[in-house]
Amino acid sequence: MKKVVVLGSTGSIGEQALEVIQAAGDELQLVGISAHSRWERACEQADAHGVERLAITDPGAAERCAAQRPAGSVLAGEAGITELIASSGTDLVLNAVTGAAGLGPTIVALSQGIDVALANKESLVIGGELVTTLAEASGASIIPVDSEHSALFQLIRSERPGTVEKLVLTASGGPFRERADLTGVTVEEALAHPTWDMGGRITIDSATLFNKGLELIEAHHLFGVPYDAIDVVVHPQSIVHSLVHLNDGASLAHLGYPDMRVPISYALHFPERADVPVPTLDLASVGSLTFEEPDLERFPCLRLAREAGEAGGTAPCVLNAADEVAVEAFLGGRIPFTAIPEVIERTLAEIPAVVPTHFEDLYAVDAEARERARSFLEGAVA
Ligand code: NDP
Ligand code: MG
Repeated sequence: MKKVVVLGSTGSIGEQALEVIQAAGDELQLVGISAHSRWERACEQADAHGVERLAITDPGAAERCAAQRPAGSVLAGEAGITELIASSGTDLVLNAVTGAAGLGPTIVALSQGIDVALANKESLVIGGELVTTLAEASGASIIPVDSEHSALFQLIRSERPGTVEKLVLTASGGPFRERADLTGVTVEEALAHPTWDMGGRITIDSATLFNKGLELIEAHHLFGVPYDAIDVVVHPQSIVHSLVHLNDGASLAHLGYPDMRVPISYALHFPERADVPVPTLDLASVGSLTFEEPDLERFPCLRLAREAGEAGGTAPCVLNAADEVAVEAFLGGRIPFTAIPEVIERTLAEIPAVVPTHFEDLYAVDAEARERARSFLEGAVA
């Protein structure tokens, strides 16, 4: 039986992960969960899954939660996640925390040689080589949960080194793929993703194509492939989850209906596979699969992410921090949709990329980038 800790259990990925674990019977055992603010939901999950200890990162929520649970069963703050991982005897940590806050838990798990099923793409975007080097040093594996990367991971595994020439990430194109003018986009419109049902920030990031930019950087680090060998193609049906081009002219693709339980199950059961209650792909009823170039004029976030990835060092950390600030401001109705890339571009322009030597460097840059991005919000309203 594999023991699993799920971080971010109250989120979109977290809830689906618990469903997958429940369905796995004796093969997977949930030994810990973490949430940030939704502590009541976390308590329901703990009770439903027989989990004794939970970490609640928001201090106020942790206090309220601790008042309701047996002494010592609620671990508070980021240190609570560290303690949860260390004391649970877990074999695998599924990191489904959103945003830069996910980096710390990834470092904690990998440092202890614990495998990480990684939904939190920001860990690799921000942490980059420091994270992959840490995994190599400790012998822990990073198994991607992101659907495109799960697809690539599965496709690449069966190939010998040197045969994969190019990776192609597919993108749904988001809700505004066919909308010429993005001024006046409302929060509601941006939250209506055509094919995937996800948390708030990643849904907005999918509407700006920023998410695909994060995934480009994630793929670069995960598979050690240079940026010029990673393409993005828009595929509105989200049936092809990614593909690889091989040296003999063959291209391999991974297909299926868009359902995150599939890559979550793959990562949790790896190297085995388990049944997932999803319909078998019926290509005749899907009818047609279409593909088109991403429009970098209307969606500059993808260009900005590629540039930041190529610049390397702390640039992706700045990119991510600025986006988190801008997306929060957009969701709060404080800036228009089109200001998101503007805030990111201005922040990147002001903070030159340096090579981080320690994770502390990244935390410092993250804080600086957030402060700088916030200073641009006011101007962005005009
Ligand atoms: P959600 O917003 O639905 O959930 C986020 C989870 O993280 C919640 O459990 C939340 O707790 C917790 N959380 C929020 N802030 C903090 C913090 N500061 N410290 C610790 N925990 C925190 O996000 P998603 O599930 O959509 O996404 C999670 C990650 O997975 C992201 O990195 C995303 O990019 C990635 N991903 C998601 C996909 C999807 O389909 N949703 C697909 C591929 C990747 P609470 O709710 O209690 O406040
Ligand atoms: Mg994805």
